[in-house]
Amino acid sequence: MEKIQMVDLVGQYQEIKKELKTEFDSIFESASFINGPAVKEFEQSLAKYLQVKHVIACANGTDALQIALMAMDYKPGTEIITTNFTFAATVEVIHLLGLKPILVDIDPETFNIDIDKLESSITKKTRAMMPVHLFGQVCPMGELMLIALRHGLDIIEDNAQAIGAKYQFINGDMKYAGTIGNIGTTSFFPAKNLGAYGDGGALFTNDDNLVHKIRAIANHGMSQRYYHDIIGVNSRLDTLQAAVLKTKLKYLDQYIEKRRFNAKKYHALLKGIPHLVLPKMPKLEDAHVWHQYTLRVTNGKRDELAHYLTKHNIPYGIYYPIPLHRQKAYIDNRSTDHHFPITCQFSQQVLSLPMHTEVTDEQTNYIAQTIKTFFD
Ligand SMILES: *Cc1c(COP(=O)(O)O)cnc(C)c1O
Repeated sequence: MEKIQMVDLVGQYQEIKKELKTEFDSIFESASFINGPAVKEFEQSLAKYLQVKHVIACANGTDALQIALMAMDYKPGTEIITTNFTFAATVEVIHLLGLKPILVDIDPETFNIDIDKLESSITKKTRAMMPVHLFGQVCPMGELMLIALRHGLDIIEDNAQAIGAKYQFINGDMKYAGTIGNIGTTSFFPAKNLGAYGDGGALFTNDDNLVHKIRAIANHGMSQRYYHDIIGVNSRLDTLQAAVLKTKLKYLDQYIEKRRFNAKKYHALLKGIPHLVLPKMPKLEDAHVWHQYTLRVTNGKRDELAHYLTKHNIPYGIYYPIPLHRQKAYIDNRSTDHHFPITCQFSQQVLSLPMHTEVTDEQTNYIAQTIKTFFD
């Protein structure tokens, strides 16, 4: 059996090598490293895929979040509601811009922000919600849109982990994660579901006014060369990364299918083990693109299992070991553990298994067998 990887980008590369080399050659031959034609082409093909009006590529997913907040012009001190259980970037950019993150606990079934606890966190200073579609599963956007309407809030979706996931509204309409709120953002970090060969990110919006502002902010606040109308940043997707992404986008649905297949396999092989809680399968398959397959170990032996997996050459991930309210950089004395019972509990219990497009049946069988043996 091949060595098991947490993420296997080498195997995936072999499949698209020929196409990529042609793309790379033309970029090297023309030295069009910045703003080459592939950037526009990728933006357009991603907009078409996501059925959204505008895609604006940028340098990484963290920049995308920051640019989104900058485009909304919030006054310092404005409260932005987000989840306590996510990668720190979401909260980091809120702090960077002098805004105030208000953290909310998560729904134990989905790991996503708890809608019921969210509404009571809204104050007069709240202007936006930043839901994160964690581990590849879309948040309950219908409910979030209603809350946004009731309280006059904006929604910025952090879709770094769920590109290609879809939300179904009660009238049956389906929309892609990241295209429902005012702005959606994503990351093309190599290990993400649509990963570049370096850093990359993008913003999505259907708002024709916001798109100009977003483009200007990502480009030093310029609407016209050397005319700086607003304060911006330098955040570009380079042409080589755009070429990789343009090529990989053609296979995204295939990649997602493979992840769904792996998730179902894990599910079938691991069900029924006491003290092991599997991630819940969503009612609608489209709602989840399985960026991670995340288990919970409920008998206090998560770290022991992790150790056991390492001993058996099985990599794993702990996303995320420390809730954001306990991170040194963001500590706020008003937020204590009892505000976040689920996040606190889950950070001690979660463990993510290898999940990527190249996992083989032999590997999932071996991983499941090893876990069963541990619990026996
Ligand atoms: C990866 C990630 C980001 C940041 O993306 P980068 O491209 O690494 O800057 C932001 N939010 C979430 C939820 C992520 O998973």
